[in-house]
Amino acid sequence: MTERDYTVQVLRSRRKTVSIQIKGPSLVLVRAPLYTPQAELRRIIEENRPWIESHLEKAARQEETTRQEALSPQEIDELANQALAWFPPRVRIFADQIGVRVGRITIRNQKTRWGSCSAQGNLNFNCLLMLCPPEIRDYVIVHELCHRLEMNHSPRFWAAVEKVLPDYRQRRKWLKTEGQAILARMTAG
Ligand SMILES: [Zn+2]
Repeated sequence: MTERDYTVQVLRSRRKTVSIQIKGPSLVLVRAPLYTPQAELRRIIEENRPWIESHLEKAARQEETTRQEALSPQEIDELANQALAWFPPRVRIFADQIGVRVGRITIRNQKTRWGSCSAQGNLNFNCLLMLCPPEIRDYVIVHELCHRLEMNHSPRFWAAVEKVLPDYRQRRKWLKTEGQAILARMTAG
């Protein structure tokens, strides 16, 4: 059944109560017991109309924000170019300091990872790091370089990171909290 500009989908199951969920700006999901009459469902929906409409509006606003913040392919290219210029000299400085050799440096567009280090010492960095403060980029570099010493996240690994960046915990925390919204801007990759 369709009400105004949104769809109401009814999903019946062996449950005892009716629940209403907003599944996006134009979809309302009603979970109902197997034998609740259609008229009764309509009454419940009508009764909850103000709640439904305010939540549909909220969902629409959220979708719009996500759409606006998504990076275009051109913007991603631009960030990748910036990263290609920024990372290699910075990696060299820290690699010398830590005393490790590195292989190739690659810039990637990724939704879930900030960087990685292969067993051969090839490094890759997410171009979205260019949207993070430089001290955060440094942390990711040092983190990956320390994997040249320890291919794990053992206490020995973290001790090596701390030797170079005594405040690495704050930087790591920043990535875990603020960083999520930045990763969410990646649409491809
Ligand atoms: Zn790691």
